[in-house]
Amino acid sequence: MKNMSERVKHFPGHEISGKALASEVKVTNYYADLQYSWASGIAISRFLNELRNGRIIARKCNMCKRILVPPRMFCEDCFRDTDEWVFVKDTGTINTYSIPHVAFDASRLEKPFYVGVINIDGASPMMGFLHLIGEVNSPSDISVGAKVEAVWKPHEERAGSILDIKYFRLIK
Ligand SMILES: [Zn+2]
Repeated sequence: MKNMSERVKHFPGHEISGKALASEVKVTNYYADLQYSWASGIAISRFLNELRNGRIIARKCNMCKRILVPPRMFCEDCFRDTDEWVFVKDTGTINTYSIPHVAFDASRLEKPFYVGVINIDGASPMMGFLHLIGEVNSPSDISVGAKVEAVWKPHEERAGSILDIKYFRLIK
């Protein structure tokens, strides 16, 4: 049996020369106007609304006594609904951190930025979230276990976003 290259003398379809590319091929850019909505759910909606008020809210499970932040309506340990809303502090401890030297588009940054997981005071151990760590002058300033506090945007600039906290800074 002959192989494919011996049997096929011409590729099917229409070959396009460089010249044809300029005259025959039409290119258009189309950007779809995609509209969507996103429901944050009961727990995160309240969390985001309280950020606008300059407060961090959590949920407590009265069975395991854990205080969960970001809040969730369901305790994954006890397999039951959580029970009540509690406010926690806007201070915490650096659980882990990273010092990226590249931007989100993979371009190199002149100065690195600092990002960490913050365990929030008043919540159960290991409860917290990822955020920027600001006002850091040198990588040697930052360490796991360091105490930090939230730096909030001015009230009129808050939008019910995690970025209503501009960043956390080290408590000296
Ligand atoms: Zn529980």
